[in-house]
Amino acid sequence: MVLELEVSRQNDKRMSATAKDILDELVRGNAAYASGEVVAYDRERDQTHSASPQFPKAVVVSCLDSRVPVERVFNQGVGDLFVARVAGNVMNDDIVGSLEFALIANEVKLVIVLGHTKCGAVKGACAHVELGSLTQLLDKIQPAIEQAKADASEGTDFDSAAFIDAVAAQNAVHVVEEIKKSSPGIADLAKKGEVLLVPAIYDLESQRVELLS
Ligand SMILES: [Zn+2]
Repeated sequence: MVLELEVSRQNDKRMSATAKDILDELVRGNAAYASGEVVAYDRERDQTHSASPQFPKAVVVSCLDSRVPVERVFNQGVGDLFVARVAGNVMNDDIVGSLEFALIANEVKLVIVLGHTKCGAVKGACAHVELGSLTQLLDKIQPAIEQAKADASEGTDFDSAAFIDAVAAQNAVHVVEEIKKSSPGIADLAKKGEVLLVPAIYDLESQRVELLS
């Protein structure tokens, strides 16, 4: 009974919050993580939420990188986030389907597409690496490279770490647009203001998330 009440309260809280409220909460969670103010790990809460129905408050599309522990980055626990991970946080049909599951079937209101600095996938795409099925994955980052080149100031070194980070940021922006292009259902919810799609970049050194819109 206590568990049912807890789960029901979690869903009520989620449904009454706006996408902006949820975004603000995640931004505060990241500020706590980056500054080392994270509250003690709550194993009991994780066990409770692991065994109960889920009502995640947001979806995060992240790179595969082992240095981007998504729940910790936003100071969230079990049951709080849907997380879709693929190298370079690129888009594909299965991730679009997963987002439709989260946003349309589960009424989640917020998507964060989270690129990160020092991204190996982005670096590989910039270097035109070819390796099995990775080749076609990295091809999806090419539009971001072209846009970052077009936006770069004169004399920019396209092999520099700063340029690769600029591509990672541009890629997060591009992927948000790809999601809307690929899913009429999500595009419609976004147009009506019922869901918010936010590109963002995570700095591995400062551990801070910067929103890009
Ligand atoms: Zn990466």
